[in-house]
Amino acid sequence: MEIRICGVSKYYYSEGKTIKALDDVNLTIPANEIFTLLGPSGSGKTTLLRCIVGLEMPDTGEIRIGNDVVWSKEKNISVPPEKRGLGMVFQTYAIWPHMNVFDNVAYPLQVRNVPKDVIRQRVAETLRFVQMEGFERRPATKLSGGQQQRVALARALVAAPKVILFDEPLSNLDAKLREETRKELRAFLGKLQITAVYVTHDRVEALALSDSIAVMRAGQIIEIGTPKKIYFDADHRFVADFIGRANLIKATVRADEGGYTVVESGLGRIVCQHRDLAIGSEATLCVRPEFIRIVKGTGQAGSNLLNGRIESLVFVGEAYEAEIRVGDEQLLAKIDPDAHLNEGDDVSFTLDPAHCLLVAL
Ligand code: ADP
Ligand code: MG
Repeated sequence: MEIRICGVSKYYYSEGKTIKALDDVNLTIPANEIFTLLGPSGSGKTTLLRCIVGLEMPDTGEIRIGNDVVWSKEKNISVPPEKRGLGMVFQTYAIWPHMNVFDNVAYPLQVRNVPKDVIRQRVAETLRFVQMEGFERRPATKLSGGQQQRVALARALVAAPKVILFDEPLSNLDAKLREETRKELRAFLGKLQITAVYVTHDRVEALALSDSIAVMRAGQIIEIGTPKKIYFDADHRFVADFIGRANLIKATVRADEGGYTVVESGLGRIVCQHRDLAIGSEATLCVRPEFIRIVKGTGQAGSNLLNGRIESLVFVGEAYEAEIRVGDEQLLAKIDPDAHLNEGDDVSFTLDPAHCLLVAL
């Protein structure tokens, strides 16, 4: 089911101060997608999710879920959370520790007064779906972190919601389990015809899990796109920087040549992916460390062939992370662990124009 958020603002009042948690948010979340709200802590992700769920009342605007207006300031509509047909998985207290698996999952149906035999059947089906059948009588405290997350997912799914919402559900798991659970979650959600709204501050999680990502900052949506669009082709400096490690260099647009935009920067003249920017305007050149390619010897002349000196070299397992000095600029580069390089070496390297991205300041 599609979710439409129009002109939603939300203020909190605390210690005599007003906090603008959401600043005129306009957003359409397409039906049956995994849609992620990504942003730093305090950017308003949880507040937006809670407004959709109905746990928070916006100060302005309208929220629709499918064809139903569930919140409207103007029309004075406020549908309570339990009537919005949603399932939710929270960051903390994912499941209730004093209940066993069956009771945890059955709870949303019990409060709706669903007949007992229907509850048993739905709980069994849902536990089978999350691969937790046979665990019905297990106390919640005797489950691993990953199993607890699956029970939380089952509880959110048991009443067959049209929309499921997640607020940083994996943040309490250790790194390895987080990665596994992320994959599972993606597989589970892929099998359902369901709209999923997923909140995280973890960029890798957002990239791995989402069909679309909306990047938030200070209560506003800055940019929306597919993971690849956001990673490779962001429009905003903040987004390019937040979604992955990036070298960000001040540049001035000099020419539009052969389908490329050419800039002058601290690295010299750089041929970049085309952008509609006026000659003479200022922009930021964004180059990700993995697209800096060391060339053997002095290298042949071509686009974006540069020379620099390796100032530091750190082995991080799958690669070396090198800091390369070029004039006044320092670039972070990811280098093949087989490269025989040392700190202090002079190197030549290229920047593929397709991965030289110009973003707004
Ligand atoms: P996120 O989930 O992105 O970390 P939140 O939506 O929790 O961000 O918070 C957005 C802003 O609103 C923050 O500045 C936060 O401190 C503030 N905030 C959130 N909840 C409350 C509250 N109940 N009272 C006062 N301020 C709040
Ligand atoms: Mg939050």
